[in-house]
Amino acid sequence: MKNELQVFNSYSGKKEVFKPIHEGQVGMYVCGPTVYSDVHLGNCRTFVSFDVVYRYLQYLGYKVRYVRNITDVGHLEGDEDTGREDKIAKKARLEQLEPMEIVQRYMNGFHEMMKVFNVAAPAIEPRATGHIPEQIEMVQTILDNGLAYVKNGSVYFDTFKFAKEKNVYGTLSGRKIEDLIAESRANLKNQDEKNHPSDFAIWIKAAPEHLMRWNSPWSVGFPGWHLECSVMSTKYLGEKFDIHGGGSDLKFPHHENEIAQNYGVCGAAPCNYWLHGNMLLFNGKKMSKSDGNSIMPGELFTGQSSHLTKAYSPMVVRFFMLQSHYSSTLDLTDEALQAAEKGYRRLMEALKVLQEMTHTGGGSAGALDKEINGLIDLASEDMSDDFNTPKALASLFELVTKINSLKGGQLSFSDLTPDTLERLKKTFNDFIFDIFGLLAENFDSSGNGVVDGLMQLILDMRQTARTNKDWGTSDKIRDALKELEIVVKDGKDGATWSKG
Ligand code: AMP
Ligand code: ZN
Repeated sequence: MKNELQVFNSYSGKKEVFKPIHEGQVGMYVCGPTVYSDVHLGNCRTFVSFDVVYRYLQYLGYKVRYVRNITDVGHLEGDEDTGREDKIAKKARLEQLEPMEIVQRYMNGFHEMMKVFNVAAPAIEPRATGHIPEQIEMVQTILDNGLAYVKNGSVYFDTFKFAKEKNVYGTLSGRKIEDLIAESRANLKNQDEKNHPSDFAIWIKAAPEHLMRWNSPWSVGFPGWHLECSVMSTKYLGEKFDIHGGGSDLKFPHHENEIAQNYGVCGAAPCNYWLHGNMLLFNGKKMSKSDGNSIMPGELFTGQSSHLTKAYSPMVVRFFMLQSHYSSTLDLTDEALQAAEKGYRRLMEALKVLQEMTHTGGGSAGALDKEINGLIDLASEDMSDDFNTPKALASLFELVTKINSLKGGQLSFSDLTPDTLERLKKTFNDFIFDIFGLLAENFDSSGNGVVDGLMQLILDMRQTARTNKDWGTSDKIRDALKELEIVVKDGKDGATWSKG
């Protein structure tokens, strides 16, 4: 089949033909955010990448059960598995709030940002704290199967035994267990509790000051970060499902340990295809909040950053992300965003021209007709080639040139059939809205890209910040709008705005 879907499987390191376990259905699990701070653009990139995967699978006609979790416990500082503070508990301590207040605040913010980027909601969005009994059960099963041991109330996965029994530990991340031992020996604080430094905690005994804690047969404690994903994926998708995704920085230790846990439960890997989105870079380095190398979506939408010459709308940013393949790194720069803005507008303007186009009648299937149909086929083939959005966009832009020439009269409708024009219209609609997930943004007459919808969104974000008593963010938004000479008035029915 010409248009057979192929995906790059990080586990085998090869592009493979995609064959779902159940015909016509796909089970996909993607690691969701740890909700202890505002999502940065790097996080957004990963979720946009998997949104396109989700959309394209549906476009191909699959019924997709997409599970994307919320990590609200167990993810420790520095991605360590013991000896460090839980990211959420730390934030709660610093802000003197309940951990669940932190979770709610940043989960709301995450959902808002996903809406802004038009990222479709998953079918199921399970939370780790809502699955503690299942996690305890899985720890017990791994213990029963002899691949974990208890030490001072914590439970550790025995990587050494696992590596001896099944030669798979390290395959996904391309590491050898000997290297892992050498690496982790230098880093781990509580290693004396472990039989081997590469072993990892699946249940952690809570220190007296630890806020999030549950009873278990081993101690009052909390589950390990890796465990939650094994539990939530298998609960909703079964012990074997089709696709597991996440950012490439999760390959090790998170995904490697998930695979180990699944073997520990049922002797098999959790999924058939591992897909990894690559990192968004900023200043040539991985965008990361903890390293202080990040830019927040709000800074892009308002242009309030020393790195930017202007504001960029959410769809320009989404378009910017689509211009690179999900498995390549992407460097965020002002110039690249400017280019993306031009590209996005050119595409949307061509769509408008196309929508208003009517065939003059009597066209024949000549060379132009063939060329247009060929480019349409190519765009689909590009998407089926491991979701290659930049190549599919390039095919669409070749079609944009044809559309503009048809409008300008340099090309003639007599060289294409009415059916081909209809197919072209449908292709543009399908690709732009259904597959790429772009929305039409109205540009104002000056072409600044400032839209009512966008303003409403910014005001909604400000309102959420105010409700959360997050005065830092609400003041930042107000000041940024003031700089743009936009006056915000708070009334009893909400805020309104006008250009001063
Ligand atoms: P976290 O909230 O840290 O668990 O991360 C949520 C998702 O964002 C994970 O899939 C990460 O791999 C991903 N991620 C983190 N930083 C970046 C980045 N700079 N570029 C792309 N994805 C990222
Ligand atoms: Zn995960």
